Amino acid sequence: LSPCAVAVVTGANRGIGFEAARLLALHGLHVVLTSRDAAKGQDAAGRILAEAPDEAGVSLEWRQLDVADSASVEAFAAWAVETHGGIHVLVNNAGVNFNKGADNSVEFAEQVIETNYYGTKRMIDAMIPLMKSSPYGARIVNVSSRLGRVNGRRNRIGDVSLRDRLLKDDCLSEQLVDEMITKFLEQVKQGTWSSNQWPQMYTDYSISKLAVNAYTRLVARRLSDRPQGQKIYINCFCPGWVKTAMTGWEGNISAEEGADTGVWLALLPQEPSTNGKFFAERREISF
Ligand code: NDP
Repeated sequence: LSPCAVAVVTGANRGIGFEAARLLALHGLHVVLTSRDAAKGQDAAGRILAEAPDEAGVSLEWRQLDVADSASVEAFAAWAVETHGGIHVLVNNAGVNFNKGADNSVEFAEQVIETNYYGTKRMIDAMIPLMKSSPYGARIVNVSSRLGRVNGRRNRIGDVSLRDRLLKDDCLSEQLVDEMITKFLEQVKQGTWSSNQWPQMYTDYSISKLAVNAYTRLVARRLSDRPQGQKIYINCFCPGWVKTAMTGWEGNISAEEGADTGVWLALLPQEPSTNGKFFAERREISF
């Protein structure tokens, strides 16, 4: 990437997003650290700037962005064009989880899917038109989870036909993903979700991340025939089990370690191109 590349990180006031923003800035990118809450985001940006060594020449600014709010996303896109002429890197990190295990509720299921899936999708759709073509290409990195694997060993969808269709490129479509989500939310409302073979642990969270993974593949396909000079690569990754607010500070790695694969994906060279893949610990894993 060029030294003046602009990287945007969502939900970067704490946790993995904060570390991704900090590490990208230390790698010399101009980082736009975004958060839905102004005070938290400004405080986070201030900490990175204050703690970075002078010689690192860190360049970073804060901007408000609520990925669950279309008006906020639109305002952010307009600002990014006006201020920077576009962006080179987008890290879709913002996410929520309320599941404690095999629990579920209408309110939380809707919020989790709205933020984790539709928020990510909203950002991708809003940023692609303004991602700058450059000789280095542009990159989108989605923070996902192994819990969203279609064939996860202990936590998968029971419907074998749906699993097959989600995995086959010629069956996967935005409509299939949206229909799955609509059906799931209807069953949560009816109180029938647990008998209908959805992932039984971290249910709405798992489905939201499965949808993020599916959308990563769909967008990768859509972007794959762009000419040289206008390439955009999109990949997703699981950060591992990370000590952040989301896990109640449990987990076995730090937020910095959790951000590592995402930062690595954001900085990958253009060739050989890596597009539409799922990673963990810097290695490709299956969807
Ligand atoms: P945190 O809860 O520490 O951070 C989540 C961040 O997302 C916060 O900054 C939060 O802001 C922000 N956020 C939530 N909703 C929105 C919104 N609507 N718009 C903008 N920002 C929002 O969790 P982590 O750092 O652990 O999580 C980061 C990502 O990593 C998530 O996508 C999560 O699903 C994923 N992940 C985490 C794992 C882990 O073990 N921790 C494992 C696998 C995946 P606010 O402070 O305002 O709430």
